Amino acid sequence: MDVRNATIEDLKSDFAGSVLTDGDAGYDDARALWNAMIDRRPTLIARCRNTSDVSRAVRFARAQGLPVAIRGGGHNVAGHAACDTGVMIDLSGMRAVQVDPDRRIASVEGGATWADVDRAAQAFGLATPGGLISETGVAGLTLSGGFGHLRGRHGLTIDNLVAAEVVTADGTLVRASADEHPDLLWALKGGGGNFGVVVRFEFALHPIGPEVLFIAPIYAVEDGPGPIRAWRDYVAEHDELAMICEFSTVPEDDEFPHEAWGQKVFALVGVGLGSEAEAEALAAPLRDLGPKVADFSGRMNFADIQQLFDAQTPYGAMRCYWKARYLTELPDAMIDLAMENAVRAPSPNTISSLWNMGRAVRSVPAEATAFGDRSMGWMYSADGVWANAEDDEANIAWARDSWTRAEPFGHGDRTYLNFPGHGEDAALTRAAFGSGYDRLTRIKSTYDPDNVFRFNQNIPPAT
Ligand SMILES: Cc1cc2nc3c(=O)[nH]c(=O)nc-3n(C[C@H](O)[C@H](O)[C@H](O)COP(=O)(O)OP(=O)(O)OC[C@H]3O[C@@H](n4cnc5c(N)ncnc54)[C@H](O)[C@@H]3O)c2cc1C
Repeated sequence: MDVRNATIEDLKSDFAGSVLTDGDAGYDDARALWNAMIDRRPTLIARCRNTSDVSRAVRFARAQGLPVAIRGGGHNVAGHAACDTGVMIDLSGMRAVQVDPDRRIASVEGGATWADVDRAAQAFGLATPGGLISETGVAGLTLSGGFGHLRGRHGLTIDNLVAAEVVTADGTLVRASADEHPDLLWALKGGGGNFGVVVRFEFALHPIGPEVLFIAPIYAVEDGPGPIRAWRDYVAEHDELAMICEFSTVPEDDEFPHEAWGQKVFALVGVGLGSEAEAEALAAPLRDLGPKVADFSGRMNFADIQQLFDAQTPYGAMRCYWKARYLTELPDAMIDLAMENAVRAPSPNTISSLWNMGRAVRSVPAEATAFGDRSMGWMYSADGVWANAEDDEANIAWARDSWTRAEPFGHGDRTYLNFPGHGEDAALTRAAFGSGYDRLTRIKSTYDPDNVFRFNQNIPPAT
């Protein structure tokens, strides 16, 4: 779409950040996303510095009849943070975090990453549940739920969201909290980026660490499913532990025994809280479930644990297609299937995981958040990661097939919307919201009646 230069110059004249169009220095870096498959060319990229910039960019888009894509951390595998025709609002210049240690609240700008939050909060021995990778954006992860190491004790990220400031589709700033626009706060707890640009999140913080126990024994797939079955039974009894069983291929890395390089393995990964003795006692049975390939368990700073997997997934380096589904239970047959899927993955960079929900996640009623029902016990995710375009078809087929084969164990058709494939299946978005969907469409029509914010797992406005 052709936008007149004079109009763009108008926007630039009063903009604290920068405004980029195709051909400008920095345009290609700004539109690059974590998933190297995504190659979109926005009409204009508004690199915002403050809330006024965001409001101006939204008003500009409306005036030009352009839709808006919002970039938080740029990590979403579907690449919704960039668009071809439209305005990309880039919040990567808005990452400040303020911590009030007395009220135990973190106030977090909309473009922050989890590293920003952990760094600021851990200075006071506090944390809120984020994800497992510190470079992931706070915004996208939060708005669709947020699964991390702390969920067994403190729930999903949305369960700790106490307020948010949002620039809505008409460019105005709205505060959503228990007292102001509570419907909007409810919708932000799982409804994605449908309702406006969140310029600030406020999270409840909890005392964590700074040192906690990292739990990470690694077992070989070829030695069979015994350790996963025992782990499943153990976390059912100890559901304050929320963990993942992550399947991967041992990299050629001196941290691993050389004879294990290239072997298919699974790691039972989690964080043990409480006193050192309590955490050690809780983890001990999981570290003794058979012969181990390696065991990276040990006491570490929580903020360091949050960064342990970052190097595995560098920004913009790999091509990706990830898909997840919730599982009602984790029967032996599903464990066998997860092992088979891991063995036949075409790429050594691919990972796949079984996540137990944990006590605090399951204790929240379905109607309390837009995320909906919490009665599932597990999640399975098949995360295709590979290097070359010629391997796209085989790797996407693997992820889709692994996901389809897990259907008999699924919790209805519900998926985690932060692992959405390439966002190609609108029916899955509808199914993910369950009975909260109609309420979400009504809230959408209040805050974004023209569906300006549509590069997401889209909820159309009620008609
Ligand atoms: C390496 C990696 C590890 C991951 N690990 C985990 C994990 O441990 N747990 C987990 O739950 N998920 C995890 N995820 C999934 C992650 O939660 C999603 O990819 C999430 O969407 C990323 O958020 P983002 O802000 O980085 O993404 P972006 O791509 O920037 O945005 C994602 C979506 O959110 C919208 N959005 C972004 N910012 C805003 C804003 N400020 N206001 C309104 N809407 C906004 C965008 O429009 C887009 O639709 C991981 C993803 C990757 C790539």
